Amino acid sequence: MAEARRITGGRLAIATHNPGKLVEIAELLRPYGIDAVGAAALGLPEPLETGATFEENARLKALAAARAGGLPALADDSGLAVAALGGAPGVYSARWAGPDKDFAAAMQHVERALAGTADRRAAFVAVLALAWPDGHLATFRGEVRGHLVFPPRGSRGFGYDPIFVPEGGHETFGEMEPAAKHAISHRARAFAALTAACFGAAA
Ligand code: IMP
Repeated sequence: MAEARRITGGRLAIATHNPGKLVEIAELLRPYGIDAVGAAALGLPEPLETGATFEENARLKALAAARAGGLPALADDSGLAVAALGGAPGVYSARWAGPDKDFAAAMQHVERALAGTADRRAAFVAVLALAWPDGHLATFRGEVRGHLVFPPRGSRGFGYDPIFVPEGGHETFGEMEPAAKHAISHRARAFAALTAACFGAAA
């Protein structure tokens, strides 16, 4: 993997069509003088997530945005990796919830897949990819390890949060204060790696 280039302000395309993600990322980058511009504002298409790994998906989204927008671009890909399921749902985390984004069903699917297995280890993974229009790329990975509990607990957060208990904790991400989750989350860790490499400071 190529080394990250330093970023010293200016416009950065954020390769997401999710307005919530864009606001969150723009806020994280503002202290570094970065003007985050969303994919929709740049008229960028939404590429299909055809990769077999979080890295591949993040890279293909970032590269497509950098080439189409003529700007450096940042993309992320994330999901839940369950040890006893060989890392599933992994890059299919969103797809396990189906077109209706039914995460109660997705969590039940995980529970059923684990029937007869005692191993409940899992990790949330986030990968950020930064791409430049000339094809230069760098990726940053963040992970939080933990274990799964059933039935789901708590109504905070999103996705698989109600079944995930981080290492050393007792509450699920769905029960925890949002700030407590954000302090240790896979996304926070990936961002810390990115800011350390590109801005020379830990987030
Ligand atoms: P994407 O990164 O937007 O492609 O989708 C990642 C999917 O992984 C989400 O739809 C969630 O299902 C799951 N996921 C990623 N991060 C989290 C998290 O912090 N909590 C719960 N679920 C998550």
